[in-house]
Amino acid sequence: MKRSSILALLFLALLLGALAMLPAQQVQAGDGRSAKVLATSLNVRSEPDGESTIVGSLKQGTVVTVSDEAYGWVKVSSGRLKGWVAGYYLQIGAGSAADKPKSSASSGASKSVAGKALGQASVTADSLFMREGPGTDHSIVSVLSLGTPLSILDRKNGWVKVRTADDQTGWVSGKYVGNPQDVSAVPKSGGKGLKGKTIVIDPGHGGNDHGVIGSKHETSEKTINLSTARYLAEQLKQAGAQAILTRTSDKKIELQDRVNVSVKNRADAFVSIHYNASPKQVSGTLTFFYSESKDLPLARSIASSLERNLSLKSNGYSYGNYHVLRENSRPSVLVELGFLTNPKDEALVRGADYQRKAAAAIVEGLSDYFNE
Ligand SMILES: [Zn+2]
Repeated sequence: MKRSSILALLFLALLLGALAMLPAQQVQAGDGRSAKVLATSLNVRSEPDGESTIVGSLKQGTVVTVSDEAYGWVKVSSGRLKGWVAGYYLQIGAGSAADKPKSSASSGASKSVAGKALGQASVTADSLFMREGPGTDHSIVSVLSLGTPLSILDRKNGWVKVRTADDQTGWVSGKYVGNPQDVSAVPKSGGKGLKGKTIVIDPGHGGNDHGVIGSKHETSEKTINLSTARYLAEQLKQAGAQAILTRTSDKKIELQDRVNVSVKNRADAFVSIHYNASPKQVSGTLTFFYSESKDLPLARSIASSLERNLSLKSNGYSYGNYHVLRENSRPSVLVELGFLTNPKDEALVRGADYQRKAAAAIVEGLSDYFNE
């Protein structure tokens, strides 16, 4: 099970438990637009995405105003601070089903259809709000985590009425409900090896989005992402593959546009190039996947090649909820090729020699993947 799913479930359990114990007057009545921060410190980001810029942070217990939600992320404001936070770190104060006797969605007319589900499906988003009615203006009943099995009871305007295994009912956006088989392994085109394969390379950040700035040499992540991507493209072409870059200049590209390049070109693999940051003195490379069926085999091959071929240590592979992976139907990974916040890593990775070696290691990982 994915760590974030476990976290989401834990927080859901905590949230429902906490709400059940609250005296009614402490739960703000009415619009369902205020929430409390559950995490010790919660990052606020510029976009509903774990990869977007951090614009601030909120302390545990801070009450925020909720104005929107997308992909399990919630748009909040607190004083002058505005941005997106991961939904499962919030206790949605008002309008939650837990402080009401059962919601209208599970009573009355809906009882007549409760027995006959239209089909079975599961949650395809990392976390998904279940609401009292078909629309974002309806109160949140519950937060469902990735992979939660659902019975489909009804459909309306792109929304789906569902029932969970523990008999909760409500409405969720139809975009994030699907057959688990929808996110399945993409058959590899052509024969074995890299020859004739289409690889989309995505140099992270660009334009006014600088990414990480190195702690010692002020190395700009967006710049070395692009130079590393260029080495990778060059070496892939030499190996007979077609290499397509999502950006070739210092320009800001929306995350979804990067995904679109991959989907439109029916990429055999999508590799997003980044360098990492951490407040701790950690070092090394890390390869992220989102889907276990679609992305994990690729992540495994690339992480193992980085480990074999680079002097920098490999931290292996990990689940990562990044937009460019999550929204991508092609096999995708995001590689972090060292920590710019670690002076030793930074001194090494800013050099062309390291970037060429890292590119060669990714080529070898891709080749192993296509030869499996
Ligand atoms: Zn980055």
